[in-house]
Amino acid sequence: MPHDKLQTTITGSLPKPVWLCEPQKLWSPWRLEGDALLEGQQDAVRLVLQDQERAGIDIVSDGEQTRRHFVTTFIERLAGVDFQQTRTMRIRDRYDAQVPVVTGRVERKAPIYVETTRFLRSQTQRKTKFTLPGPMTMVDTLYDEYYRSRPKLAAAFAWILNAEAREIAAAGIDVIQFDEPAFNVFFDEVRAYGIDTLEQAAEGLPCKSAVHICYGYGIKQNTDWKKALGSEWRQYEQTFPLLQKSKIDQISLECHNSKVPIELIDLLKGKDVLVGAIDVTTEQIETPEEVAATLNAALRYVQPEKLFPCTNCGMVPLSRTVALEKLKALSAGAAIVRQSLA
Ligand code: ZN
Repeated sequence: MPHDKLQTTITGSLPKPVWLCEPQKLWSPWRLEGDALLEGQQDAVRLVLQDQERAGIDIVSDGEQTRRHFVTTFIERLAGVDFQQTRTMRIRDRYDAQVPVVTGRVERKAPIYVETTRFLRSQTQRKTKFTLPGPMTMVDTLYDEYYRSRPKLAAAFAWILNAEAREIAAAGIDVIQFDEPAFNVFFDEVRAYGIDTLEQAAEGLPCKSAVHICYGYGIKQNTDWKKALGSEWRQYEQTFPLLQKSKIDQISLECHNSKVPIELIDLLKGKDVLVGAIDVTTEQIETPEEVAATLNAALRYVQPEKLFPCTNCGMVPLSRTVALEKLKALSAGAAIVRQSLA
């Protein structure tokens, strides 16, 4: 029976099987090619769906089994971006990365994930969610030699994302989420064009739209950054009032084990809130009681129908066993809270 309160979901990624690529590694290259790769990815989607369903996740995803990276795998399929040449660029204002170069007008020549979403839809009876990169985060993962303007490039990506998202929604997906970790870094840009381009990407969708904003995976660059953020992380305080006024339906945020003051959720009145109750930066499995405590704290600011227990971020860097146990803890924690509400 689907739940009407505290419907559990995940941010996006899950670990991939060892035969598909080397585990516990970001950007891990594929171990298969051509038709074998496609078949392997579909088998992996079947496995992560089974894991999520058995663990009691209500709104399931493909676990991002068909992409190496949440931003670049999308950009790779677009015209106008040259992956043969790369530049070193500081990304998220935090670390240097080798990024591809925008050399011409960016264009989506063909659907990117639409086949994947059709396959996802055909393999489960549950509600489904699919993730796409957000326009501002895409801009922050490229060197731009053509537009020479972050707002202009973001607007171009927003149109492309909207075309893709409309086709994904038509395939029967219930929630389309745009990942915007850059929203936690460039506050003036969020205000200037980030919200507008995000809304443009989600324009006219017949399904729910969501945005995920987090403090990232447990890589050293992120943990060092978090240490420098002080005793209270108040970044959301800048963006939540803008998102509250936006047309985006759901906001996904990081809570458990973070220094985010939980009362910032109050700034999202009226929105669905995806509360991160699982830490993705540690192999330690949360107890159901810990999950319940996070959800109960959030319940002071959001109604149970609008609270969606979730992970803090993607789980791709974890081992499969740990990720599965964390999913089980998430639904067990949600069940404790549901029972106390009944
Ligand atoms: Zn995240």
